[in-house]
Amino acid sequence: MEYKIGTNYNGFILVREENIKEVNSIARIFEHEKTGAILLHMENDDTNKVFSIGFKTPPEDSTGVMHILEHSVLCGSRKFPTKEPFVELVKGSLNTFLNAMTFSDKTIYPIASQNEKDFFNLMDVYLDAVFYPNIYKTKEILMQEGWHYDLEKKEDELTYKGVVYNEMKGAFSSPEGILMRKIQETLFPDNTYSNESGGDPKYIPDLTYEQFIDTHKKYYHPSNSYIFLYGDMNLEKCLKFINEEYLADFDRKEIDAEIKPQEKYNSIKDVEYTYSISEEDDDSEKTFLALNYVTGRSTDEEVYMDLNLLEYILLEAEGAPLKKALLDAEIGKDVFGSFDGGILQPVFSIIAKNSDVSKKEEFRKVVYDTLNDIVKNGIDKKLIEGCINAFEFRLREADTGGYPKGLVYYMNAMDSWLYGGDPLMHIKYEHAIENVKKSLNTNHFEELIKKYMLDNTHASLLTLKPEKGLAQREENELKEKLENYKNSLSEEELNKIVEETNNLILRQSTPDSPELLETIPLLSLDDIGKEVEDLPINKVKHNDIEILHCNTFTSNIAYLNFMFYGKCIAEDDIPYFSLLGNLLAKVDTKTYDYKELSNEILINTGDMYFRNNVYGNDKDENKYYPFLEVRTKVMDDKIYKSMEIMADIVKNSLFEDNKRIREVIRELISRIEMMLMQAGHQVAVGRVASYFSPAASYMEKISGYDYYKFLKDIENDFDNKIENLKSKLYELQNTIFNKNNLMVFITGEDKELNLLKENMNKVVDVLSAEALNNNDYTFNEEQKNEGLMTPANVDYVCKGYNFKKLGYDYNGSLLVLKTILGYDYLWNRVRVKGGAYGCMSTIARTGNMAFVSYRDPNLTETLKAFNEAPDFIKSFDVSDREMTKYIIGTISNLDMPLTPASKGEKALGMYMRGITKEDRQRERDEVLDTNVETIKEYNKLIEDIMKKDFICVVGDEKKIKADKDVFKNLINVFN
Ligand SMILES: [Zn+2]
Repeated sequence: MEYKIGTNYNGFILVREENIKEVNSIARIFEHEKTGAILLHMENDDTNKVFSIGFKTPPEDSTGVMHILEHSVLCGSRKFPTKEPFVELVKGSLNTFLNAMTFSDKTIYPIASQNEKDFFNLMDVYLDAVFYPNIYKTKEILMQEGWHYDLEKKEDELTYKGVVYNEMKGAFSSPEGILMRKIQETLFPDNTYSNESGGDPKYIPDLTYEQFIDTHKKYYHPSNSYIFLYGDMNLEKCLKFINEEYLADFDRKEIDAEIKPQEKYNSIKDVEYTYSISEEDDDSEKTFLALNYVTGRSTDEEVYMDLNLLEYILLEAEGAPLKKALLDAEIGKDVFGSFDGGILQPVFSIIAKNSDVSKKEEFRKVVYDTLNDIVKNGIDKKLIEGCINAFEFRLREADTGGYPKGLVYYMNAMDSWLYGGDPLMHIKYEHAIENVKKSLNTNHFEELIKKYMLDNTHASLLTLKPEKGLAQREENELKEKLENYKNSLSEEELNKIVEETNNLILRQSTPDSPELLETIPLLSLDDIGKEVEDLPINKVKHNDIEILHCNTFTSNIAYLNFMFYGKCIAEDDIPYFSLLGNLLAKVDTKTYDYKELSNEILINTGDMYFRNNVYGNDKDENKYYPFLEVRTKVMDDKIYKSMEIMADIVKNSLFEDNKRIREVIRELISRIEMMLMQAGHQVAVGRVASYFSPAASYMEKISGYDYYKFLKDIENDFDNKIENLKSKLYELQNTIFNKNNLMVFITGEDKELNLLKENMNKVVDVLSAEALNNNDYTFNEEQKNEGLMTPANVDYVCKGYNFKKLGYDYNGSLLVLKTILGYDYLWNRVRVKGGAYGCMSTIARTGNMAFVSYRDPNLTETLKAFNEAPDFIKSFDVSDREMTKYIIGTISNLDMPLTPASKGEKALGMYMRGITKEDRQRERDEVLDTNVETIKEYNKLIEDIMKKDFICVVGDEKKIKADKDVFKNLINVFN
């Protein structure tokens, strides 16, 4: 229908309407007449509808009040007074996205769904949560989500507990987390950005209930809100609902949420901080050096788009000149940049990792010398062209990964909207791209370097160095503080804490009554499709090469994957084989040096990279298929060019540049270290599986902790090992790139397939045709039960095994069990009561299953919770309505909307793992047929897995040492 500017639609006056061709949408901006709330609407045919409400929430301290509110408002509200409506929605809605996020200066509550009824349900629960939360009458919510004194019995040790408290302890465990916090702190001492909106564990216990409530009263008001509607929907109906059910009950209010810009510095600030490492760790080469610049405003198109690009040009692309200069000067072993455009005054950072304090001045000098040199001599225009092309490709492809598109546009909008700018300016990227393309004929980027870096004194030079045993000392101090506090309390006060602790535990252990649970709206099973979608793969042969084709519309993009089967590689060479994959496209070829090669890739494709990968066989755990994959995405008129580049890399790559090889190895090491600190749950799950699964054991060798040790060995004795390494790489390169082990996968339409056929011989012709032998790899199951110790303050606790080995079969109802465990048992035991940030189970068709906790303050208590899961399952008993909820929640995971690329990816995965459409249909039927009895019977399966006692814990050294009896092997990860 037609909308008229100035007309009132259900309480909202249309202020502006605009067609945005870049994103195929009509954008409308409405102002709510009564409250002044602004609503941005984007109309298009995307079925994945998005709603979000956000508030401007600049924190005044580091108690984390904004973050704790974000958690707490989702713990029950006026219309939905259960303990955690959020969890009920995760369990039982068709949401494709459901979360809430706290940023430095805003808090947002986005949801997405493809089902209209579900969409309204989700909107209703979220709006009720933000405007009428139960925090006003239930003090325990702050205790649980924020912090509280925990004392079950008077004689116990007094501790702090709380979900956000632990979450942030985990966030501050990684040096990168501390670095990012300190960068903001040093640049914005006088405004809101000096505070940690997530909460600094040191200050979280300063938060009082009164302050918590007052903060909600002040900021969670329509007049301070940013509302968003996106997708194929009935707009009038949505506006009517939002107005009549919520906004109409409020009046306009003046809210002072203004963020004052930080005044400029006259000279660069020089600061030093420390982070904790283990007493036993070596503290050399563990320092971070960072130069950070405050760069204008996020409402400036030039700052927002061009500096983002400049960061890529200088620090991300292969052979990015500033990165290269810092690596050449051996300032750090890993160099990267960051550009944060999501705050009022964006920040550009240049970071050297694994450096030393003594190199600080040299770091500064190399940065300034290099930048001066670049300004004088100009940036390689091919590099600029490549980077612009890569950005443009990404924008046009609009593949937002696992996120709903609408959510990404909302985030883009907020980057200007929150600061009084036009909410549409960053969504309309065409203008900025056209503008920046002009830089190919000017010295635009050189000017930016001068303006925002060389001549800019609003900057900091930050040193973050390791300090041995800091975490232990801080923990002892905290222990002492709490002990002293406990001793200072009167009998009466102690009793009060014990009583409050036990009240909280009682509340946590008492399930919501059926009446309360029924307030949460629920779809019926009739709202769910019964059939699985088609994921067809057509097999065609072209000149003796097998092509797998996923035929789907991709907007003229071809997603290609040249897959070289890896069983021809000898067992001892597997880690070298993985390193080969990591080096290709990053080293020189006979045609190009590696920088030119990177430019060619950026100019002609959306991406091209090599990687090792393993596909398990879901019907036979002992079978698996390793590949070296060459992946690229490319506009169809550039397919020929991508084939030329690929052929060159495959045939002509040179492993002669020792320095370059070392750089790549060092960067790989640094990135795995980051994973060990920040994603320890992934490491733990992979590690446990490697004890009993041949495929997982292979995976460890090519990407896990085993691979890390392999890389460290080379790096530590590089000069002695490099010659052998080089000859290995050549040998493997000659073996793997062979016609006889190639299979090609393409996602695209027939047009793309035909172009592939016309051009793929460019690659095929350079391959060897020698006959290949496939190797058998040995595997022995071994219960290693490792404690992988890091300087983190939290643990990642994992326990698992393969149920097929124990005589059980896979069944779709196991996915329902996963939903039940994840959002009921493990959620309550390990997160709500235990204080871990998260806990989940993984279940695969192969039979691999694991429980794992995330940022967990506990270890043995969590293992105990895992061991007691069978008791929970045995006594599991819920109403039909609750069971329906779990089934819907499980289906929503199976039915996540797919982008063309992810559809192809899913189809390939199913094909490789031997899963047919019939298998998937059976799985879906089994999910839909699940009942209480099916679930109860799984107690035996889980019990048998737990009895095998295969565990791995990654994390807190102190905790692992204290509980060392649990393990067979203790390993200091960074030694
Ligand atoms: Zn959180």
